[in-house]
Amino acid sequence: MLKGIAASSGIAIGRVYKLQAPVIEVFNEVKEGIEKEKERFKKALEKTIDDINKVKQRAAANLSKEELAIFDAHLMMAQDPEFESQVVGMIEEGNSADHSTKSVSDMMISMFESMEDAYFKERAADIKDVSYRLLCNVLGLTIPDLTLIDSEVIVVASDLTPSDTAQLNKQYTLGFATEIGGRTSHSAIMARSLEIPAVVGVKGIMDTVKNGDLIILDALEGNIIINPSEEEIKEYNLKKEAFLEEKKALQVLVNEKTITLDGHQVDLAGNIGGPKDVEGVLNNGGEGVGLFRTEFLYMNSENDFPTEEEQFNAYKAVLEGMQGKRVVVRTLDIGGDKKLNYFTFPEEMNPFLGYRAIRFCLDRTDVFRTQLRALIRASVYGKLCIMFPMIATIKEFLDAKAIFLEEKEKLVKEGVKVSENIEVGMMVEIPAAAILADEFAKHADFFSIGTNDLIQYSMAADRMSEKVSYLYQPLNPSILRLIKLTIDGAHSQGKWAGMCGEMAGDASAAPILLGLGLDEFSMSATSILKARKIIRGLNKKDMEELANKAIACQTAQEVAQLAKETLK
Ligand code: PEP
Ligand code: MG
Repeated sequence: MLKGIAASSGIAIGRVYKLQAPVIEVFNEVKEGIEKEKERFKKALEKTIDDINKVKQRAAANLSKEELAIFDAHLMMAQDPEFESQVVGMIEEGNSADHSTKSVSDMMISMFESMEDAYFKERAADIKDVSYRLLCNVLGLTIPDLTLIDSEVIVVASDLTPSDTAQLNKQYTLGFATEIGGRTSHSAIMARSLEIPAVVGVKGIMDTVKNGDLIILDALEGNIIINPSEEEIKEYNLKKEAFLEEKKALQVLVNEKTITLDGHQVDLAGNIGGPKDVEGVLNNGGEGVGLFRTEFLYMNSENDFPTEEEQFNAYKAVLEGMQGKRVVVRTLDIGGDKKLNYFTFPEEMNPFLGYRAIRFCLDRTDVFRTQLRALIRASVYGKLCIMFPMIATIKEFLDAKAIFLEEKEKLVKEGVKVSENIEVGMMVEIPAAAILADEFAKHADFFSIGTNDLIQYSMAADRMSEKVSYLYQPLNPSILRLIKLTIDGAHSQGKWAGMCGEMAGDASAAPILLGLGLDEFSMSATSILKARKIIRGLNKKDMEELANKAIACQTAQEVAQLAKETLK
């Protein structure tokens, strides 16, 4: 059994699909004669053409005509008669199919690479792509491709980038396990919004499992069981049923308010990555959207930053979909682990501490203004709140807000209808902002505490690294004190404070957050009903006492113990 971090709850039992580029080893050995070698090559060539067509077909939904043209170029190469006859010629001279394919491909690649013309030079990369695919087929190796999965599997990878995760087909992906990552890495966050069970930070899994191995992914406990016995399969099927039953039972709370036993009400909202996630929030009884991570609009855009119109349509769809409920949209939070195809971020030693989020937006105000215009135009379709990510200083907040006000005024002058009630707030995810929260609250309409980054920066522990994931301690008194400063700071100026980091959906933290006075909890949609059930069973007054004791503790373990005893 391998152990990792349960990142998106659920249980899956299925065959492994390993996302790992095969290592190619070529031998010039003809085992069963020339004719067999020729047949091996011809079959591989046919399969290659077929594969490229399939990839093209699947990609057609997401790519423009120009982007699809690349596949035509690949097809042309694979169908080039000159290439085919050269390889066949070499086989007839007594060479193996793999050796001949590699030799002719290498020759063509170096020929194109040495050309003066930039266009032909670039074609060398296409030939490399095609010949890699062809060689894998000759050798009977499978090139993993998430878009080609067409049967139920559990994806196993070293790491899944946010764009890999976006490609996962929910219909066939029973779950995934990765070597790298923590509970708050973006692949984990996306798994929760897709409702796919996931275990991350599973050291050694890539070396331990093979393609096609049967595994149990226990994403409740964070365990992976390889080649389980009949008994174990039975046991986990029961566990899975119980999990699904419990989920179903919570449905009775969908239309209920989140009120404590002594009558204190809080809002439970959902975190989303785009318009398609709205349905999940509503189905799970979300009272609003507490975090719309707009960077996914940017990451899904292929060639350039999304236009004002594209963004306007997405924001309008979310606001309309939420039917007047509050929607907090975060402006572009790119950089760190979130990259764009069409924009190269400068190389930095510590990208998480570097040029990202509001720092990028205040530098590339053209990109920022486009987003703000789209948002302001969409504001008439619902209840919009805008917040800026990674605010460290008062000046950053005021500069960002000034740009917002300028764009709003411009739109009004242009005769565009805009809402007069857009709230402008900020994420509190850098300790500097939490410590100075009472001052920030004089300018911001609300706060949303981003604990994923707040904990990362407070503990100086990379949220992507499983080696230091023990420092992800939401219940550490130091973190609780920063949260208290933030909430008290907001309340001192009559403002509200929410939380949209993963801690907001953490059942063990809910009682303390309630006691600290948090007004809004925003989480993965699938966590909402469970949180509602917990909060409805608590007394706010008792939780205030618990919170006071918790911030006076020394360790996260002490806080956890205290909470456990109080709730008993
Ligand atoms: C956070 O940092 O807590 C947060 C909600 O933002 P993200 O996870 O997108 O960095
Ligand atoms: Mg963050």
